[in-house]
Amino acid sequence: MSDDATPKTTRPLGGISLNFISEGDGSAPLSQSVASGTGKPVEARVVIVGSGPAGLTAAIYAARANLEPIVIGGVAAGGQLMITSEVENYPGFPDGVQGPELMALFRKQAERFGARILDADVERVDLGGRPFRLWAAGVEYRSEAVIVATGAEAIWLGIESETRLRGRGVSACATCDGFFFRDKEVGIVGGGDSALEEALFLTRFASKVHLIHRRDAFRGSKIMATRVAANPRIQLHLNRTVEEVIGSEHVEALRLGKTDGAGEELLAVDGFFVAIGHRPNVAAFRDWLELDKKGYLKTEGATTASNIDGVFVAGDVDDHRYRQAVTAAGEGCRAAIDVERWLEAQEAHVAGRPAANAVSAR
Ligand SMILES: Cc1cc2nc3c(=O)[nH]c(=O)nc-3n(C[C@H](O)[C@H](O)[C@H](O)COP(=O)(O)OP(=O)(O)OC[C@H]3O[C@@H](n4cnc5c(N)ncnc54)[C@H](O)[C@@H]3O)c2cc1C
Repeated sequence: MSDDATPKTTRPLGGISLNFISEGDGSAPLSQSVASGTGKPVEARVVIVGSGPAGLTAAIYAARANLEPIVIGGVAAGGQLMITSEVENYPGFPDGVQGPELMALFRKQAERFGARILDADVERVDLGGRPFRLWAAGVEYRSEAVIVATGAEAIWLGIESETRLRGRGVSACATCDGFFFRDKEVGIVGGGDSALEEALFLTRFASKVHLIHRRDAFRGSKIMATRVAANPRIQLHLNRTVEEVIGSEHVEALRLGKTDGAGEELLAVDGFFVAIGHRPNVAAFRDWLELDKKGYLKTEGATTASNIDGVFVAGDVDDHRYRQAVTAAGEGCRAAIDVERWLEAQEAHVAGRPAANAVSAR
């Protein structure tokens, strides 16, 4: 379940002390480069952008392959799992693990092998030639290869009560948190295919799923809408908006507004899922990298290669299908291996040797 704790500084979590401005083994601290203001670019073989499960897994693999990665991990270090409490489906944790604690472990593991991590956002990039150039916190980074692992953000309704009760019954991930609502009644808001799919998924646990949509028809596909309508556990609340999530310690009810008339309704529920979409974090890259129809970064075939040779992509920023920590981590691993092979092929090319296993978009 999510909560809105988004730590940026040292805080105790499950016995682990997190320092979110940490910088690897200290051999060449990034903050010194940042603070020195020398104007000199920082050079790296690979820069990884993003410090969620995809970015930090890529960092572990790249560091263990002696690529000495620099991770420009974002101001919101640790990614989406930092707004989550209990994670019960990440393999290796039979008793579950707190989201921030899991990300602290990822980070510790990456740093153990020498990854240097900076908690800043990449503001702009120039991927027009090699070395690639990236700017973050007033410093220019130059890199032979780049892994983009900037993730995606769930879109929330933006009401105060929704934020206050995140992790206390409010969630944006049915796959992750549906299990917590066995034999309970839940509400879900949204009208696209994802909302319909998540409503159907929730019927595996919840005794009743209240699907709330502000229009009189769904935007999702007809087949999904038919399945939803035929499911006796789903009750539709069309022409309704969620005005407030009611509850002090946990979700108790929803206050619904009507778009087709006056008045309000109270709906008693134990949980509330927001399924109104995700926004991939592509702003710094959209002028260079190809996007798909939904605005996610595109990869080539079975690899993590982007449309630019030497730039690779991993995690939720290219995946609107699975959106799980373990799939993002898996893709981070693939991206690091792709980078390793790509760099090897570049070096072989320069030395006039035949390249083995080269990964390229072109
Ligand atoms: C409420 C909630 C609960 C969830 N629960 C679970 C669960 O129980 N189990 C599970 O498997 N999955 C869960 N998920 C999904 C899981 O969190 C994601 O699938 C996973 O975090 C994706 O990893 P990622 O590395 O691709 O991206 P993210 O985790 O989104 O990380 C992206 C990183 O990129 C950084 N970034 C973005 N833009 C920039 C930039 N311009 N420059 C530098 N850095 C940048 C961000 O700061 C962040 O560090 C949950 C998601 C939510 C929202």
